[in-house]
Amino acid sequence: MYPFSFTKVSDTQGALNAGRRGGRYIAGGTTLVDLMRETVERPETLVDISALPLHEVTVTEGGALRIGALVRMAEAAAHPSVRLTYPVVSQALELSASPQLRNMATIGGNIMQRTRCAYFRDVSAACNKREPGSGCAAREGVNRTHAILGTSESCVATHPSDVAVAFAALEASVRLLGPDGARTVAFADFLLRPGSTPNREQALRKGELITAVEIPAHPRPLRSGYLKVRDRQSYEFALTSAAVALHIRGGVIREAKVAAGGVGTVPWKLPAVEQHLIGERPSKVLWAEAAEKAADGAHPLQHNGFKVELLKRTVERQLRTVGGTK
Ligand code: SF4
Repeated sequence: MYPFSFTKVSDTQGALNAGRRGGRYIAGGTTLVDLMRETVERPETLVDISALPLHEVTVTEGGALRIGALVRMAEAAAHPSVRLTYPVVSQALELSASPQLRNMATIGGNIMQRTRCAYFRDVSAACNKREPGSGCAAREGVNRTHAILGTSESCVATHPSDVAVAFAALEASVRLLGPDGARTVAFADFLLRPGSTPNREQALRKGELITAVEIPAHPRPLRSGYLKVRDRQSYEFALTSAAVALHIRGGVIREAKVAAGGVGTVPWKLPAVEQHLIGERPSKVLWAEAAEKAADGAHPLQHNGFKVELLKRTVERQLRTVGGTK
């Protein structure tokens, strides 16, 4: 460790003042403290925001589900509104990390978590995300777990969150509060692809605070679920994953929301899969045809070519599980 200052704030204005001065927000700390121990991150000032009133899960008048940024992962997963309305969110959370981590980590922190690329966490390795301009050791290194979609010459790291994949599928938005006021950013625009600046990962302005993630109201009934494929059954990140939500009425798919994890530099929405499903009747053939489109545009690296087929099979299996006709 190295010296840093620590301050605890009790209200939002205090947090924003500290954030404007360059303080780094911390709540559960399950990612940031690890990275500080490894000196990957070296913030000078930590601002503990865990006392702010952002701990509620609410349903808005319009039927949107709003999850406060400081709701713990375990609390969100168990909340009746989340479980009942969006099983895909509960399942993604319950398949993440470990029970201990889920009891500490918050929803806001979860979507802010940084990549698990081993080179990013090894301060002796070249890494454009940690040290812009230094290179990318993963490109020619061990890249079995890295991304096949949304990559750039500068970075090929995956985004590690599971619940972010569910949020992407459901077209959630992120509510922010900053020195210039409140604003809302579509989830699809919140997490940034690496491009030539992989060190910039979120569309946050200086001092901005995440206050909530909001899932819009979707037509009912909505069946949904999350499938995670990984090297071992617990406490492991996804090789591939699929978040699927389907609105089926009169035997016809009226809406389809699908995204993949473990394969993209950000949670990867699959519009071609969705379009293939809408207006069709569920069938084994339909699931297989739609899933064929899941890896469109993929650019595998030396060691992760297997993800192309694995992704298609993951999406197909989850469409079958959620949509039926097993
Ligand atoms: Fe760093 Fe990204 Fe390359 Fe990993 S993939 S070493 S995070 S630049």
